[in-house]
Amino acid sequence: MNFSNSYEQLDDFFYERTRPVPVQAPELFLWNSSLAEQLMVPNELSHDSVALAQTFSGNHILPGSEPIATAYAGHQFGSFIPQLGDGRAHLLGEVLDLFGQRWDIQLKGSGRTSFSRAGDGRCALGPAVREFIMSEAMNALGVPTTRCLAVVTTGETVFRKTPLPGAVVTRVASSHIRIGTFEFFAARGDHQALRTLCRYTINRHYPELQEEGQIQYLPFINEVIKKQIQLVVEWVRVGFIHGVMNTDNTSLSGETIDYGPCAMMGIYNPQTVYSSIDTMGRYAFDNQPEVMHWNIARFVECLLPLIDADRNKAIDQVEPLIEEFTGRFEKKYMEMMGKKLGLMFVKKEDHNLIVSVLNQLTNRRLDYTVTFDLLTKSLMSKSTASQMHNELEECFDLWQKRLTEQQATPQEVHELMRRHNPVVIPRNHHIEEVIQTCEQTGKATLAEKFLQVLRSPYAELEQTSEYQEPPSDGDNDYQTFCGT
Ligand code: AMP
Ligand code: MG
Repeated sequence: MNFSNSYEQLDDFFYERTRPVPVQAPELFLWNSSLAEQLMVPNELSHDSVALAQTFSGNHILPGSEPIATAYAGHQFGSFIPQLGDGRAHLLGEVLDLFGQRWDIQLKGSGRTSFSRAGDGRCALGPAVREFIMSEAMNALGVPTTRCLAVVTTGETVFRKTPLPGAVVTRVASSHIRIGTFEFFAARGDHQALRTLCRYTINRHYPELQEEGQIQYLPFINEVIKKQIQLVVEWVRVGFIHGVMNTDNTSLSGETIDYGPCAMMGIYNPQTVYSSIDTMGRYAFDNQPEVMHWNIARFVECLLPLIDADRNKAIDQVEPLIEEFTGRFEKKYMEMMGKKLGLMFVKKEDHNLIVSVLNQLTNRRLDYTVTFDLLTKSLMSKSTASQMHNELEECFDLWQKRLTEQQATPQEVHELMRRHNPVVIPRNHHIEEVIQTCEQTGKATLAEKFLQVLRSPYAELEQTSEYQEPPSDGDNDYQTFCGT
């Protein structure tokens, strides 16, 4: 692989140079061959599972790779922690893909670093498999996300509540710059480092804003807001609950990052929370836009001293951007929900229709994915239409009436709805079953089968139906845990 390590060329207080801690008996568990092709992993490596296991466990460092653990801080559940950093991850370096796009290649679970605090630097197989499957599913759903290239089992045991098989997961991301990276330097009053980080982030993620001399802070903030809104709107579209939207898990690239306690919402209920540690429901499904708004405010705070030495003057400049967030989100949300309902153009008055449909889902405890899938199918099937009429009652009539107002054939509406409503999502009970089987058998067969279905979430393949049914208990007692 051709590494080109731009982050490593920043000043050395952005990271610690540190090598992965070798593992006993690495074995390749999951390999993402299409991503490997995109990243131009050389054939002699990608066809040699022993070499892959050595490489993506961290036992063998490829030429050109300069492993580092990056420094960051972050607000966790609202409290500021001035130093977090990669406590169990090593950034091997960056590679350019077939299209010239730059990707970070990072090992997670690759041993302790100076940021580990009390942690063991390791990762269990279950969370590694979860991250691989969830991120592949999200990518196929069209949601911006980090990817996974590999999961390698280590032959070692990690101790959590019980002894578990250990693994290293290779994460591929547009970058690992987080809001928490800015907070790390802001908390230390290091304006020079903040400026460097702004320039670096703009070059890497917002090259259209690149200019000689002055950094264009307001356009930068504006674009960051745009990306984060797009991200959360996409989460809402597919029913994704991140579970731990701390500022250190908010990537400047606008990708979903850190699949710890994440889950998919089954029965539509805006207050859904699955994470065992989120007792206050801070990161509930419906709170995600407001939390992102809050996270962005933390990001903007970091930039205030760079925008104007007079804090009040700086605040006057950024305030309108922060205040606009909710309105901007609402607009994008309406467009997205409109498309889920087959509306080519959404009007202000459609808000009522959207709200009544969603209320009906809540009241009747209907499954989010199934309902929108059936609504899509109802355009082409009289019996499904009548079934949905029974479920949604007058909302269904309202919806039908609204559809007749637009100049579009049922086929066109169907096509629009199909693109926005998946037929299959990585449901919690399926994920759990697959993870358990992987842990018990030490084999990835079931994960591969699930992945094949999840990679075509808008089409019914032969095996799709095995993964469509909602859980019999409505995910009532479902709980997720941080992958630590
Ligand atoms: P996360 O909850 O995965 O977003 O991680 C929050 C912080 O805890 C980051 O600084 C991680 O590097 C660190 N961390 C999580 N798990 C471990 C572990 N097993 N060993 C060392 N550090 C960890
Ligand atoms: Mg994290």
